[in-house]
Order: sequence, then structure tokens, then C-alpha cells
Amino acid sequence: MTTSHYIAGRWVEGQGSDCISVNDPAMGLPFAELMAASVAQVDQAVAAAREALPAWKQTSASQRAAYLRGFAEQLGQRREALVTLQMRNNGKPRHEAEIDLDDAIATFNYYADLAEQLPQKNCDVPLAAPGFTARTRLEPVGVVGLIVPWNFPLVTSAWKLAPALAAGCTVVLKPSEVTPLMEQTYGQIADTLGLPAGVLNIVNGKAETGAALSGHNGLDKLSFTGSNSVGSQVMRSASAQCRPVTLELGGKSAIVVFDDCDVEQAVEWIVAGISWNAGQMCSATSRLLVQDGIADALLPRLQAALENLRVGNPLSEEVDMGPLTSQAQWLKVASYFATAREEGLQCLAGGKALDRDGWFVSPTLYVDVPADSRLWTEEIFGPVLCARRFATEAQAIAEANDSRFGLVATVCSADLERAERVADALEVGHVWINSVQAVFVETSWGGTKGSGIGRELGPWGLSGYLSVKHVTRCLG
Ligand code: NAD
Repeated sequence: MTTSHYIAGRWVEGQGSDCISVNDPAMGLPFAELMAASVAQVDQAVAAAREALPAWKQTSASQRAAYLRGFAEQLGQRREALVTLQMRNNGKPRHEAEIDLDDAIATFNYYADLAEQLPQKNCDVPLAAPGFTARTRLEPVGVVGLIVPWNFPLVTSAWKLAPALAAGCTVVLKPSEVTPLMEQTYGQIADTLGLPAGVLNIVNGKAETGAALSGHNGLDKLSFTGSNSVGSQVMRSASAQCRPVTLELGGKSAIVVFDDCDVEQAVEWIVAGISWNAGQMCSATSRLLVQDGIADALLPRLQAALENLRVGNPLSEEVDMGPLTSQAQWLKVASYFATAREEGLQCLAGGKALDRDGWFVSPTLYVDVPADSRLWTEEIFGPVLCARRFATEAQAIAEANDSRFGLVATVCSADLERAERVADALEVGHVWINSVQAVFVETSWGGTKGSGIGRELGPWGLSGYLSVKHVTRCLG
């Protein structure tokens, strides 16, 4: 049983009614337990953040930048422990756990730099009208609630926490109940750095704790990453109080492969886009659109590449893909295998759970999937790839855009002019050309349509935690 809530600069035991099991998905067994925070503890966390706000927002940008660089450095010093915990609790292969940690470190360093540039953004505004001056002042939004999922816990929290602290906001963070130990690191680092009490608060729990936070009237903003169903509940709570909300939701993204591609290279990109993190990525490119001229050469190679992936326990084997992170996710993916059988889909690889301990499934490929199949239209959040063929560029664009989601897409083509043209026509927040899942802290993250509202990362991520004020003075 771990003491796992960080409120007003102190570690406290949960007083909620839910007991949370922290599991090793490769064994399907728990290795830690904690009690959820009670609703009263959520109140205390919000009150602590409120109390800390006036002093924190008065700190200089360079003081806040120093704390952020401290977070980056301290993450680096805990490298082995954090990589191992992600392998154990998320089931991530070592190299993916290392990428996540490096991403979190880069995020804190990047927002330290942006914090230092903030004072220059408070500047005079040239006015056409005579007799007046005006100046811009960027102010922190205030107390922010941050609710995150389990698939990239260190990263998703860093993408919110770093810009929020850089802007001068105080924070209540609610990690996922599936991976609640990961973000405790941020509380431990806050302790080590002497971050003022109440600037960062962490409450763990399930839906009840999340709802208590998202509905709390002491927040000035809520930033949520997770499923569409919970996202819409969070938006309802925010709308009741006319409070701003950022939503990073699901995806069902396309990877479009034109027939001028190198087949082997295309197969590599397609496999990475569906097997990294066992396909549990909002940005998984789970809809393959392959042009007629290359499909017959590509699909058998893709089948072989998926079947050859080494699936296993990242802690004891050299693996390309680990288990699904939770039993609930494993059951959900298995239910899509059943739906595929009911729908009579043609399965070229996988299509089943693995017959071993833990929550493993085979990397899966369905081909010639009808456009109205549930497997083509719904987010599965597992290593399940569906493929369709296309003839023309216009058809590829239309099919890729025919989705209620709009998070990302990948375009693979040797004709760069065409690739750029297609990228411009895709209704998504981020397009990769001839590359896969490359996320840089300087570029934005977020989606169109049902994939969310707002953008994280880059200067847009910081803007989400800043309020614009103008002061206009009459010279007369
Ligand atoms: P989820 O929506 O079930 O949970 C997300 C968080 O919300 C968790 O902390 C959970 O405890 C909390 N929560 C649950 N019920 C709540 C309620 N009623 N009120 C407030 N909070 C509540 O999502 P998940 O299963 O943890 O994550 C998977 C989903 O996240 C997928 O749909 C995936 O696409 C999405 N995701 C999106 C992005 C992105 O950047 N767009 C990134 C990662 C994951």
C-alpha cells in the first residue's frame, strides 16, 4: 500500500473508498495498491493550489524556468527506475520507455526556454488611433485541473504540467488509476526542488476522483486527455461553469501508401504505426489505405512482418511489442476480434489473444475491410490494423477524411509534391510524410473533429495556460 497523494506539499494517504491495484500486465498480477483520494481530498488539493497561486504567479519567468530545468534534470537522474516502472506497469519495451522519458525531459527544458521568453511578449501595441497607448500583458489562467490517461503517463503529464507551471498556473494533476505510480515522480521531484507547497498537487483515483476534479468550481481551467466518452462528460462539467477546457481525445488515423513507395520501407512505417505501445496510441495509424499498384506486393510482406514481431514480457525478453496495459483494454480488443469474426472480415495476421499469462494479443491485420465496419470506424486502441485499397489520390483523401476523428495521418510517397498536396488536404491536426509517429516538442499536438479541442506542445501549448490582457491608456 503506497502513500500516494501529494497535497499542499505533503504526502498523504487516500481517504476514498476505491482501492486501486497497480498491475504488471505481462503477468496479469498486481504489484502495488493504493487507496483513492476522497472528494474532500480533491477539495483540499484545489484549495492548496488556490492558496499557492498569488505567490507563484508573482515569481519571475526565470525562477519558473529554473524549476522546470530542475524537473528535467531530476527525471534524467531517475532514468533507470522510471524506464523499469514503465516496462513493468505499462508493458512498454525498453527502447519505447526510454523514448517516453526523453520526451518528458525535452518538454520541461523546452518550456523553461519559453518561460524565459515570456517577459518580451509583454510589450507595447502599436495603435493607428492617436492619443492612446496600449500594452499586452500575458497572465496565467489560474488554478488548472489536469486529467490524464495511462498510455504515455510521463509524457502526457509533462505536456500539461510543464507549460502550466511555465505560465505561472498552479496545478491539480489526476493521473490514470492504471498507472498511478508514474506521476508520483513529479511530486517527489517537486519535494527535491523545494517547489512551493500547493503549486503542484497530485490526487489519484478512478472516475469518482476525476469527476470531483473536473466538476470543481475552484478551477479556472481543465485540460483533459482521454477517451471521447469521458471527454464529453468533462466538457459538460466545464460548460456548467462556462470554464475553458482543452480536450485531447481519440483517433482512428489513416496511413496512405502510394504505389511509388519502397515496399520494405512502407512496411516498416506501417508496422511501427500500429505496434508501438501495442497500438495503444491515440495517434495509431490503424487504417491502412494502400494503392492498387503496390497492394499485392505489400500485403504479404506486411503480414510476415506482423507475424515476425517478437511479443513478450519486456522485463524478461528482448521484445518488439509488450502486452496491453490493462485487463479492461485486453477484453476490449478481444471483443473487436469477435466482432471481426461476426462481420466475416478477412484476417491475414493475428486476430486472437495469446494463450499465455498476461494481457497479450497478436499483432493483427484485416484486409478489404468495408468502410462501414466497426473495425474501420471505431478506435480499438490495440495492435489491430485494417486495410483498404484505393485507385486515385482523390479517393485516398476522401477515404482518409471519412472519419469522425481527425488526429493525425501518415502519407508515404516518393513524389514529395504529391505527398505535400495530400497532407494539405487531410482534415487532421498533424501529418507525417515518409516518417512515423515523430513528435517534436516544437510542433503542435491535437486534433480536429472528434479528436479534441485545443493544441498542446509548441507555443500553442503555453498559450493554453495564458490569458491575454490589454491595458489601454488615454494620453490626453
Ligand atoms: P479514459 O477517458 O477512460 O480516462 C482518462 C482519465 O479520465 C483517467 O485519469 C480517468 O480516471 C479519468 N476519468 C474517468 N472517468 C472520469 C469522469 N467521469 N470524470 C473525470 N475524469 C474521469 O481514457 P483512458 O482509457 O485512460 O485512455 C485512452 C484514451 O485516451 C483513448 O481514447 C486515447 O485515444 C486517448 N488519448 C488521447 C491522446 C491525445 O493526445 N489526443 C493521448 C493519449 C490518449
